[in-house]
Amino acid sequence: MKTLVDGYKRKIDYLRVSITDRCNLRCVYCMPPEGIELMESKNILRYEEILRIAGIAAKNGVTKIRLTGGEPLVRKGLLDFIRKLSEVPGVEDLSLTTNGVLLKGFAKPLKDAGLKRINVSLDSLKRERFAKMTRGDDLDRVQGGLEESLKAGLNPVKINMVVIKGFNEDEVLDFALLSKTKPYHVRFIEYMPFDAEAGWQKDKCLSVNTMREIIEAHAGPLEPVRGAAAGAGPAIRYRFKDGDAIGEVGFISPVSEHFCGSCNRLRLTADGKLRTCLFSDNEIDLRTALRDGSGDGIIEKLIFRAAAEKPERHHINENVFKKCSRTMSLIGG
Ligand code: SAM
Ligand code: SF4
Repeated sequence: MKTLVDGYKRKIDYLRVSITDRCNLRCVYCMPPEGIELMESKNILRYEEILRIAGIAAKNGVTKIRLTGGEPLVRKGLLDFIRKLSEVPGVEDLSLTTNGVLLKGFAKPLKDAGLKRINVSLDSLKRERFAKMTRGDDLDRVQGGLEESLKAGLNPVKINMVVIKGFNEDEVLDFALLSKTKPYHVRFIEYMPFDAEAGWQKDKCLSVNTMREIIEAHAGPLEPVRGAAAGAGPAIRYRFKDGDAIGEVGFISPVSEHFCGSCNRLRLTADGKLRTCLFSDNEIDLRTALRDGSGDGIIEKLIFRAAAEKPERHHINENVFKKCSRTMSLIGG
């Protein structure tokens, strides 16, 4: 088996796949209220096309696949697709990121279809604020979906909170405390420069160090989670030192302290482009090759080219940084 390695000797074993650009929410940091211009349906990869890419990637060392969007749960036929994806030889870890609105009633079928774990994006536990942030009134449904995911045995169930200064930073503590009574893995994520409404400013981004200080000042010290899996993702993982907590918290710091040195991923957009970095507009087109009769060898070469073109790191904190032309919902965050 060949192994995908980029120009900086990073092993690429993770493919993040956006299966749709459609979404049933309009989060303020991701989309304008009227939504964004959608891709033409004919340009969106069919499930069979994604399965073909997954098969080729898995033959070359990709073992982890995460489905995202847009909102992945709005795409029809998802369960059957997940079943087939989970059977692709070499795919060991299949996960999904969702806003959770449709999760209640879906969590168990997802698990039965072969999904291992789930990330649910949730930025406020207050009804009015949730509605303001997402432009939807679905907090109860998301919370119901979270409960059901635990019951279904998805493991872990992660809660992703994007923290924005002056908007929801006062809830950092409440979110951390969720990990004390339930086995949630709460992930605090710095606000990134992607919003479609150009409202991002660096001073709205709360650093993970500050988040951690807030939590420790009010709820006691955190200690690092150790063990083989602890360094597997971009989050720095902790649990409360008092030993009571059954879950954990983690901090993802793309802005204040990049983790590009350990980046192990490529991203496939819903319209079939491989992105070499979340923050770079460099894309390798796979859709044309998928549809013009090219053999697997050509697609494999394109995947290797994407790995080879991965930049060393992003440049968010430098003057040269330009916001990406795609919003997060079009990339698949
Ligand atoms: N719709 C699904 C969801 O919201 O979980 C999946 C797609 S969404 C684009 C993936 C993740 O990107 C979500 O956790 C969302 O909070 C995050 N995201 C979107 N815009 C962001 C931004 N400007 N900064 C940080 N995270 C962002
Ligand atoms: Fe939709 Fe996810 Fe973007 Fe919110 S963050 S608008 S749920 S794609």
